[in-house]
Amino acid sequence: MAQTFTADVIIIGGGVAGLSTAMQLAGRGARVVVLERERIGNGSTGRAAGLLGQLRGNAEHTRMLIDGIEIVRQLETEADVSIFLQTGSLRIAETPERAAEIAALVEMGRSIGFDIDQLPIADVAKLLPYMRTDDLLDACYCPTDGHIQPAELVSAYLKVGKRRGVEYQTKTPVSEILLKGGRIQGVKALGREYHAPVVVNAGGPWSYLNAELVDAVLPTAAIGHYYLTTRPDPAHPIDRLSPAIRDRHLRLYTRPESGGLIVGIYDPEPELHDMRRLPVDFDMSRMKAARDSIQVARLLEAATARFPWLDERTPMSITTGIMTFTPDARPFCGKMPDVEGLFHCAGFSGHGIVQSPTIGLIMSQLILDGQSTYDCESIEADRYFEVPGYVNRVEIEDKCVRMAGNYYGTIERPAPVASGSR
Ligand SMILES: Cc1cc2nc3c(=O)[nH]c(=O)nc-3n(C[C@H](O)[C@H](O)[C@H](O)COP(=O)(O)OP(=O)(O)OC[C@H]3O[C@@H](n4cnc5c(N)ncnc54)[C@H](O)[C@@H]3O)c2cc1C
Repeated sequence: MAQTFTADVIIIGGGVAGLSTAMQLAGRGARVVVLERERIGNGSTGRAAGLLGQLRGNAEHTRMLIDGIEIVRQLETEADVSIFLQTGSLRIAETPERAAEIAALVEMGRSIGFDIDQLPIADVAKLLPYMRTDDLLDACYCPTDGHIQPAELVSAYLKVGKRRGVEYQTKTPVSEILLKGGRIQGVKALGREYHAPVVVNAGGPWSYLNAELVDAVLPTAAIGHYYLTTRPDPAHPIDRLSPAIRDRHLRLYTRPESGGLIVGIYDPEPELHDMRRLPVDFDMSRMKAARDSIQVARLLEAATARFPWLDERTPMSITTGIMTFTPDARPFCGKMPDVEGLFHCAGFSGHGIVQSPTIGLIMSQLILDGQSTYDCESIEADRYFEVPGYVNRVEIEDKCVRMAGNYYGTIERPAPVASGSR
């Protein structure tokens, strides 16, 4: 007879969301098994650029990211791994609307005690001599931002998770979620049953397919993403501590990487992937960007506009991968009303690496305490439950693609937080 495993919590997916959740749960004494279809970190996690910008258009999300750095700092000590490089970051504005957005973000950031200030363009030019600045109207600087090294983060989650007793099984695709009377019993993978009263769907771009295993609808979609990495060039030296840049007008983000520069784009017309059509052994780390694709052409055009020394002849590599978007670019964390014991943790819309430290903590609180110390209203998994327009797959994909395409295009309108509120 096939062997049966028993745990308190089964986590589907060994990306940063599943790994962080597993580590936090095990830290509170839960017996946790992580089941991964391929290798650990083989999904979106292995493709990430790792930018960590704490400033969001919403105060609670900004706070979550501020706390996330604290968790990363503790992890670095506990796992003896260097994960976070503090370089600072800049947002730049080349239109009056973007300048007003920056002013509002600075006000909101300050109202919650976040270290942020406007920066004169002359100072921006001194900080980033390799960037065009003559068309800029304004900029703001966040000295405590930087980037996370995704591979080191994964290794730290694993190291601490193993120490706390988490079991990880790779090459183990979950093909069934076991239910009885609307309650979770466990899952089935490779013909084996794994029993637990709680299952977490941390399946990244596959998360909507995992939800479908119990006929549930999770409004996520799998969206293609591209960035380039230049080789070191003595004519345009990039210091390893150069600040990251976000240029939402051109839809670009950048950070230093091994003497070169990473430049990524939130493409206005992103590709939609159908995860069901990918081979069972699909390996995201083997994805290759077609150099003649329209997405790469748009990336290069925008990159050249901000860094005129960079063009298609510049020695560089191009990375592509798949991220998980939702209709409002906020993740789904928690339960749906229809299946008792099934939790979702997916849909990080391009920010799962930086969100994962706090999200793991939030998930452990939701699972073990039934509530979180954070205000999770905006990331609740059931916010579109049975809402017309968010049930049909075609409609969901259309909304997610539009959100991804407008992601850097929209102007954020943050409001300062009244003093005294958390
Ligand atoms: C090109 C690119 C650049 C990015 N840059 C950044 C960045 O700068 N900063 C940032 O914060 N984020 C970035 N992201 C986003 C970030 O990578 C993701 O948000 C994050 O990795 C999501 O983690 P996850 O654990 O939810 O998903 P994944 O890392 O995709 O993990 C999900 C895992 O679940 C497994 N799985 C799914 N279904 C099953 C099943 N049925 N059985 C077993 N296993 C299953 C998959 O194999 C996969 O390993 C980037 C993403 C891409 C693609």
